[in-house]
Amino acid sequence: MNRIFADIRGRVLGGPIRRYYKLKAAYSILGELSECQGLESALKVLVSNVAARMGVEIVSIMFIDNDMRRLVIKIARGLNDEIVKNAATQIGQGVSGWVGKTGQPLLIKDITKDTRFTQRSSNGKYYNNSLLSVPIKIQDRIIGVININNKVSKDIFREYDLDLLKTIADTAAIVIENIKLQEDLKRINDTSYELMSNVSHEMKTPLAIIKEAVSLMLEGHNGGINEKQKKYLELSKQHIERLNRLINEYMESAKAMQGKLLLRRSLFDITGTIRNVVDSLNMLANEKGVELKGIIPDKKVEIWGDPDKLNEVISNLVDNAIKYNKQQGSVELKLDEKDSMIAISVSDTGMGIPHEEINKIFDRFYRAESSFREGIHGTGLGLSIAKDIVSLHKGKILVESEPDKGTKFTVVLPKSLRK
Ligand code: ADP
Repeated sequence: MNRIFADIRGRVLGGPIRRYYKLKAAYSILGELSECQGLESALKVLVSNVAARMGVEIVSIMFIDNDMRRLVIKIARGLNDEIVKNAATQIGQGVSGWVGKTGQPLLIKDITKDTRFTQRSSNGKYYNNSLLSVPIKIQDRIIGVININNKVSKDIFREYDLDLLKTIADTAAIVIENIKLQEDLKRINDTSYELMSNVSHEMKTPLAIIKEAVSLMLEGHNGGINEKQKKYLELSKQHIERLNRLINEYMESAKAMQGKLLLRRSLFDITGTIRNVVDSLNMLANEKGVELKGIIPDKKVEIWGDPDKLNEVISNLVDNAIKYNKQQGSVELKLDEKDSMIAISVSDTGMGIPHEEINKIFDRFYRAESSFREGIHGTGLGLSIAKDIVSLHKGKILVESEPDKGTKFTVVLPKSLRK
């Protein structure tokens, strides 16, 4: 009944009111489509909307194939499954093929009288010989076609129907293109993460062997070494550890993207982790002329969490604090505890982060403009992983920064995950 009413309304109402209904339809379709997850569900919503708003029984949506030669039905309503499964039209042939080729919308009141097409009259499936076919276009690029037949009112299609279907198709085109781009991006992301993860994995073993050899030399297993050699070897070890952290970052990021980042929790003393980080990054700080200081309570502070992953988070924050610091600068790593929470803060006297970028630095691959300008290397992954790890611990990570003065990151964690 509503559909028949929609049809009568379409015929009777004049210009401005029709324009109002058209915009309202477009707005509401845009809203519904934007909520859809994936192309398939968006197309289902689109078909239902076309059927309801146009008051028709038969709707089909066709997309141009990758080889650009055919239009293939992606979804339909009111046609039997067998037709849908096998339906494909060569570009340039038949009604949809004509629309797919020319990009022009088509209103046909009686196909038997249209000399452009050799179509027979309707075969009982249709109430009459009238149909509408409009292109789905992104600017000038045609990506598909929407066809409709059979008004519930049994009337033929008119100009105002064509106008409304064109508006719906234009609205849908924007959302469809957006979803397709997102799906393509996800496919590219998945592939690149898989590649990244495999390469990183392959690099881990040789790196572990090099690190072991350097450690053995440092311990004097193959004869004594002089002070200069010791210094070089220690520096090499620190850089091997840095490379290891980088590889871990890639692997963790790949896992986080695939929702596979998991914690291995145990009750452990976080002061040990912090001491460890200070020890292992001290030399790197010295190398840059930065003073690294740890302020840690003189007692055990036990928390429930993943010691390796939290080590990674703190190492990354301290590594950044050194990396983005200036000569003669300083870094302070501090642990505070209060009731059931702990706070680990890393403050530096470095370049700082501009206000407008502070909310973006936790995004995967984001690097502040100033880091590029200063030629400081990085992946833009460390903070995004830190954020993922901290939120798996039900904690949060805060940042305060003043350009040219310094930055302070604070990781706030519950001591126990059990509330
Ligand atoms: P990166 O590998 O680039 O250091 P991160 O994800 O760890 O990646 O950090 C993202 C960006 O945040 C960095 O590229 C840098 O621009 C900014 N940043 C992070 N820590 C600091 C800091 N302590 N001081 C200034 N900028 C920082």
